[in-house]
Amino acid sequence: MKHDGLSVLESRVASDLARIAHPRAPWLQPRTGPDGAPAFDVLIVGGGQSGIAAAFGLMRSQVTNILVLDRAAAGSEGPWTSYARMHTLRSPKEFTGPDLDIPSLTYQSWHEARFGVESWRALGLIGREHWSEYLLWLRHVVGAPVRNGADVVDIAPAGGLLAVTVESGAGRETLHCRKLVLATGQDGMGRWSLPAPIEALPPARRASAAEAIDFAALRGARVAVIGAGASAFDNAATALEAGAAAVHLLCRRAAPQVVQPYRWLTFRGFLRHFCDLDDAWRWRFMRAILELREGFPQATYDRCADHAAFTLHLGAPVLGAAETPAGVELTTPRGALVVDYVIAATGIEIDLSVRPELARAAANIACWADRYAPPEDERSERLGRFPYLGDDYALTERMPGETPWLADIHLFGIASTMSFGPSGSSINAMTTAIPKLVSGLTRGLFRADVERHWADFQAYDVPQAVLRSTGPASGLRDPGG
Ligand SMILES: Cc1cc2nc3c(=O)[nH]c(=O)nc-3n(C[C@H](O)[C@H](O)[C@H](O)COP(=O)(O)OP(=O)(O)OC[C@H]3O[C@@H](n4cnc5c(N)ncnc54)[C@H](O)[C@@H]3O)c2cc1C
Repeated sequence: MKHDGLSVLESRVASDLARIAHPRAPWLQPRTGPDGAPAFDVLIVGGGQSGIAAAFGLMRSQVTNILVLDRAAAGSEGPWTSYARMHTLRSPKEFTGPDLDIPSLTYQSWHEARFGVESWRALGLIGREHWSEYLLWLRHVVGAPVRNGADVVDIAPAGGLLAVTVESGAGRETLHCRKLVLATGQDGMGRWSLPAPIEALPPARRASAAEAIDFAALRGARVAVIGAGASAFDNAATALEAGAAAVHLLCRRAAPQVVQPYRWLTFRGFLRHFCDLDDAWRWRFMRAILELREGFPQATYDRCADHAAFTLHLGAPVLGAAETPAGVELTTPRGALVVDYVIAATGIEIDLSVRPELARAAANIACWADRYAPPEDERSERLGRFPYLGDDYALTERMPGETPWLADIHLFGIASTMSFGPSGSSINAMTTAIPKLVSGLTRGLFRADVERHWADFQAYDVPQAVLRSTGPASGLRDPGG
């Protein structure tokens, strides 16, 4: 049943959006695909917060012939109700994002309408499940068109359009579009990393933090979590709360990252203009930030440290892993550790070759290593694999001319980070980054249609005023007379 407060808020949203709808004029003409069916102006792959916010931004620019596709069921998009294992978001509650600066669409407005103003005041951090519920509400209230259960498995050129193959319960179909946004999440340009020795273990003994893990089955077990970012602590805490006998968190470095670099960079100048810096500065900043990794909040740490069964091992990279009769033996420079189960919370790896939807293009997608050679002390093979994007978030070609259709594929995810700063990877950047993405998309659509706009302008003959005869009929003297 709809909460009364939400009904009132929804009327306010409708009124707010109507007041700022200018300019309302449609400006795109429908196209037809090679199969004779209508083509979309923009397809968005991924219906998480980025995909929904991008759709909303496009709709506000009168780009309405769009569709968002997500392989997940409605409400299960993104990490929030699956592998996110923290109780609350890590961002402060005041950080706005997918609302795109419309006050009535902010999380605060939703929370106050749903739970009351006092509840918002008393709130520390946003509940993970509430965030997911808010995203579903936002999508509904702005009318973003989403098709769930739709897995994009191939993207190909199709005579000036893109042909996008979608698999769903109904089988396979091909949709056509002029532009495509990949808002496919953290692993959208690769996969969750599993260190090689861990990957070699039997699947029953290990998982990456992004997998479904049966924590109830870890009751009484010895668990190792590899990594020391926020997700590592969340997984360790979930195992402890499920009754694991011992949980060991193995941190590669001498000390875990307690400073959160993403807090420092949350100011308009950086968020908006990082992408305007030259390659040397972009590389220097993002290498430093991504090598530091994200810090974890106090509550995340306390959730583990409060348990007697928790041990944090510092300076303990995993050098080897072997299954023995006593359990999995992990070798570290500080000695060996025997456990029953290993969870790798070691982030993502950019690896375009593992994404089926990119199979046709992967070999010619330019990455940072193709475009920029950093000084010796700033080298990073890992970051060199991040795609090098155009100023409209489009993929660029390694060999120009071989796959020109890449210019119509725009990437909005953590893999955009080297080119654009934290856009697409965290909530703090969304109000700045989504308008930039939308502007890149509308620029491309407008430029491609410039001849039609010129013809339309020349044919434009709508009078603004109707003239009447004025003044005395013989007001002017005949020059010949
Ligand atoms: C555990 C965790 C906690 C986080 N907490 C915070 C936080 O507190 N604050 C913060 O600012 N950021 C946080 N982040 C970072 C970021 O905000 C999230 O990752 C967020 O989910 C990114 O949104 P997104 O829409 O870009 O991607 P996602 O939410 O991951 O959505 C991507 C969607 O794309 C779909 N998809 C992928 N490939 C295909 C395909 N081929 N076809 C169809 N659909 C596809 C997926 O099903 C998914 O629903 C967190 C990230 C994680 C992993």
